Amino acid sequence: MAEQNTPLKRHACETTDVEPSSKRTRLMESEEKSQHPNLWFDDGSVVLSSEQTLFRVHRSVLSFNSTIFRDMFSLPPGEDAGEDPEDTWEGLPLVKMHDDDEDIANFLTALYDRTYSLSSLPIDVLAGLLRTSTKYEVAHLRTQAIKYLGPIYDLSYRSLTTLQPYTTKTHGVQFATLIINTARETKAELLLPGAFFFLAMQDIDVIFETVTKEERPRYKISMDDLKTCINGREQLIKFNRDNIYSFGDSPDQKCSTAPWCISKMSEFVNSPVCKEHTVDPNATAVLDPDFWTPLTPLCSKCLETHRRSSRKGLRKVINLLPLYFKFSDWATLRKSTGQALST
Ligand SMILES: [Zn+2]
Repeated sequence: MAEQNTPLKRHACETTDVEPSSKRTRLMESEEKSQHPNLWFDDGSVVLSSEQTLFRVHRSVLSFNSTIFRDMFSLPPGEDAGEDPEDTWEGLPLVKMHDDDEDIANFLTALYDRTYSLSSLPIDVLAGLLRTSTKYEVAHLRTQAIKYLGPIYDLSYRSLTTLQPYTTKTHGVQFATLIINTARETKAELLLPGAFFFLAMQDIDVIFETVTKEERPRYKISMDDLKTCINGREQLIKFNRDNIYSFGDSPDQKCSTAPWCISKMSEFVNSPVCKEHTVDPNATAVLDPDFWTPLTPLCSKCLETHRRSSRKGLRKVINLLPLYFKFSDWATLRKSTGQALST
C-alpha cells in the first residue's frame, strides 16, 4: 500500500510544518466565538463549534442520541473529519459543526431539555430541527419534527379543510418554499405534496417570485420545483372545474322539488362566483361541504346529497394530491420518509 511506503519521518515533518500556524488560527477562531449561555456545562466533555458559538456538552449524551456522534467518538482521535486531535478547547475535543448557530442550539436543547416541546415551535425552527436530526441521525427527533410540520403539510381530510387560513398569511409562501427545500434536503418526501399544494394555491405572480425575486437559498425554489408547482396547479384547477360542472346534474333521488333544485343548481353553476372558481386551484373552497349552502337554497335532501359528494370529493383530491405533483402515492411517501435515515 502507498501509505506504508511513505517514510514515517517525512510525514511527521510535514505535520510539524503546518501545525503551529493552523493551530493558532483555530485557536483564534475559537476565542472569537461566544459560549452559549445555557448550553455550556462545566462538566461537559466536548466543545461543539458552530458559526459564532461554542457549546460545551457531553459526549455520552450526543452518543446516546445520535449514531453519527456515536461513530465519531468511537474512532481514535484524528480518524474522522469532524474531530482533529489538535482541535481542542482548554483540553477538551473541539468539533466543528457546519451548521447555523440557531440550528445547533435548538438541536442540543431538544436533546437535553425534556420539557422542550416541539408542538408550538415556529416552522423555521422545526425545519432546522429536521435538518440537524437528519444530518446527525437522531431518529426520534426527526420523527417529531415531521409530525409537527405535519398538521400543515402532511394533509389529512381535517387539515386540508383548515389549510385555508394559512393562505392569507404573507409568510405562508415562504414557509411553503422552506418546507419544499428542507423536505428535499432531508428526504422527508411526505411533506412535499402539502407544501406544493399550499404554494400552488397562490397567485401565479407570487409563485414565480419564489424563483425570480427570492434571494435566500432556503426560501428560493429551483426551476424544476417551479415546474412541478405549475403543473400541479393546472391539475387542481381542472379538478375544481370538473367538480363545479358536475354540481348541476345531481338532485337527490328522493327530491320532491327536483325542477326547483335543478334550476337553483344550474343558476349557481352559471353565477360569477362559480366562474371565479373554474380558474381557482384551491380545491378546499369548492369542496367545503358548506360552501354552497348559504348561496343555494336547495331542499334538505339535495343539500345532504351535495354535502356527501363534497366530502367524497375532498377525500379524492387528498388521495390524488401527490400524483398531481408527480410524486408517489401517500403510502409510498410515508414509507420512504420513515426509511430515510437508514438508507
Ligand atoms: Zn331537491
